[in-house]
Parts: sequence; C-alpha cells; structure tokens
Amino acid sequence: MINFDYIRPSTPKAAIDAINKDASAQFIAGGTNLVDLMKRGVMNPQKLIDINNLPLRAIEQGAGVIRIGALALNSDVAEHELINKKLPLLAQALKAGASQQLRNMATVGGNMMQRTRCPYFYDTVMPCNKRNPGSGCSALKGYNRMHAIFGASNACIAVHPSDMCVALAALDAKVIVSSSKGKRRILFTDFHRLPGATPQKDNNLQRGELITTIEVPDNAAFAQRVLYTKIRDRASYAFALVSVAAALDIKGNTINAARLALGGVAHKPWRLTTAENFLKGKPANITNLQQAAQLAVREAKGFGYNNFKLKLVPNTILQTLKTITGLS
Ligand SMILES: Cc1cc2nc3c(=O)[nH]c(=O)nc-3n(C[C@H](O)[C@H](O)[C@H](O)COP(=O)(O)OP(=O)(O)OC[C@H]3O[C@@H](n4cnc5c(N)ncnc54)[C@H](O)[C@@H]3O)c2cc1C
Ligand code: SF4
Repeated sequence: MINFDYIRPSTPKAAIDAINKDASAQFIAGGTNLVDLMKRGVMNPQKLIDINNLPLRAIEQGAGVIRIGALALNSDVAEHELINKKLPLLAQALKAGASQQLRNMATVGGNMMQRTRCPYFYDTVMPCNKRNPGSGCSALKGYNRMHAIFGASNACIAVHPSDMCVALAALDAKVIVSSSKGKRRILFTDFHRLPGATPQKDNNLQRGELITTIEVPDNAAFAQRVLYTKIRDRASYAFALVSVAAALDIKGNTINAARLALGGVAHKPWRLTTAENFLKGKPANITNLQQAAQLAVREAKGFGYNNFKLKLVPNTILQTLKTITGLS
C-alpha cells in the first residue's frame, strides 16, 4: 500500500476546500471499497479526506420527501423506523447487500460511489479501460458472467454493483451535492452513467463535489406493494447477478402505476420505463405481467458467459411481480 496523507475536516466547506487543493485527494467514508482498491493498487490517492466528522448522518422526514444524509450507515438506514414504514423497498435492498458487518461501516454516499466488481478492473496486470483508459477491455471476450446486458459499449461492459442504488432509482430519488459553486440536485437515474468511450467515469459527480443528502419522494402509493429480489451465487457476501426493485400502486385489480428497476445488468441502475408504461392502467393479471417482463429485455444483448441473464431477467421480473400481486 502506498503512503498517503490523512486529514479529518469537520465541516463540508473544509472538506470541499481540501479536495480542491489537491488533484490526487479522495474522500473516504466507511473505507470498505476505497481501502480495498488502494491495497490492490487500483486507486492511488496521495491524500485521504476522511469525511466521517461531517454532520451528514441524519435520516428525517421533510415536506413531501424523506432525507437521508450521505454518511448515514447502510445498517442504520436499513433498520430505521421511518425508512421501513415509508420506503420499505429501500430497506429491503439495503438488507440484501453485503453483510451486516459491512453494512455497519458502509455509508450511503460510499455505496453510490463504489466501483465495479469486474475482476479485470481489480487485476492490475490485465487491460482495463476503466482503470487504465485506452488499454482495452479484457471482459469483452473474457469471462464476462457478471457483466452488462444493457447499455454497454465496446470500451466497457461492467455493471454497477450496488443494491441500494437500484431501489433509489426506482423510487425517483434525487442526489444533493455541494461544491465551492454551491448546491445542485441530480436525478438519481442521471447520477450514474453509461460507459460510452469514457468508462473511467462511473458517474456525473464533478471533481470537488461532495454528496450530502439523498431525497426520496414520500409517496404512500409505493410503500405497500414492494419487493426487492436479488439473484446471486450465495446468500451473503455476493453481488447480484440480477436484481429487481419493484413497487406497484394497485387499486382494486388495476395497476395505477409501476416503478421498476434492475441491478447487475448495466453500468448504472437500469430503470424499466417501457415496462412501467405498459403496466399503467392495466389489470394485474398473469398475461400483462408476462408481457411487461418480456418488454424489459427487448434491447438486451449478451456477451457469451452472461447470456443466461437474457432469460434470468424476465423470469426474475415476472416472479417479483407475481409475488407482489399475489398471483404466484
Ligand atoms: C465483500 C463485500 C461484499 C459486498 N457486497 C455488496 C452487495 O452485495 N451489495 C452492495 O450494494 N454493495 C456491496 N458491497 C459494497 C459496499 O456496499 C460498499 O463497499 C460500500 O457501500 C461503500 O461505502 P463506504 O462508505 O465504505 O465507501 P468508501 O470505501 O469510503 O468510499 C467509496 C468511494 O466513495 C467516495 N465517497 C464516499 N462518500 C462520498 C461522499 N459523501 N461524496 C462523494 N464521494 C464519496 C470515496 O471517495 C470513494 O471513492 C460489498 C463490499 C464488500 C467488501
Ligand atoms: S468491463 Fe470495464 S471494468 Fe471490466 S475490463 Fe472491461 S473496461 Fe475494465
């Protein structure tokens, strides 16, 4: 591991000033991803700005929104009464992630910013455009079982590994970030990006910006019939092969509105707006649920070892929707 400087500012302004002064500095929160990457030589910051003293841990009710501080621990959010009552889909997704020990360290902001689990990204002797732009993508013709079936490019077919982010994308959350220029709000679905020709950029956060808060609409319609389904190789300590975050607003037997997003399939949480629009106003019956599940994979493309996801995705969506609607 390389030597590095370490500071622990106590205000967001001091943390932002510090990152602006040093091009090789990085924020560190729980450290559960960044420290691994530093040990393996994948990331080599010369300075760590520990943000754990910043007052960004609150989980609270706002006017029409629920606010979650960027430093709230994954375990605290998952167990919080307000979150379990109003955002049960988020609580389920968090509990499906990592292990209790990791969730006790991991923060909301760090979870959003965690890097891909593509094995070639972690293996510093292998070509990888995300780690070393222009070197090539070893996964394209390599062992790509965990990789993307949506939105990939010739430069990178990695997926974003978070569970939490899939639920936040489905629930229309917003990300509030601060910098020396002030505050801005980013739609959660616009926070992460597709790889295109620049896969080294995971998201649209600009250098010098600090994630401070996540705002999630307080929408009772999406707090009743919800389910996060995660398909993985083992029950704990495993990232999603495919996951589905689903919330249905149903009156009688009619689906008023649907919120659907996938994890483990793209460089960002993959929102299924076509399937959502299809379900809107339709009866909750097996035929409609099957059609929605099939619509979801219309633009999917496998890369060999991950072709199984082309079937696993619609099957997981269908099973999730059947469970929510009581049709299974
Ligand atoms: C064995 C293992 C299994 C795991 N399984 C899962 C899983 O199944 N599902 C899942 O979702 N995750 C999983 N994880 C990932 C885990 O959830 C992340 O490592 C964790 O959420 C990162 O949070 P952190 O606070 O530790 O981030 P850190 O490691 O401290 O930071 C990660 C990155 O975020 C940046 N950052 C942190 N906070 C901010 C902020 N406020 N503003 C701007 N930048 C910031 C840092 O600069 C750094 O680049 C697993 C991890 C491990 C080690
Ligand atoms: S998929 Fe992306 S992260 Fe993996 S080797 Fe290719 S460029 Fe690197």
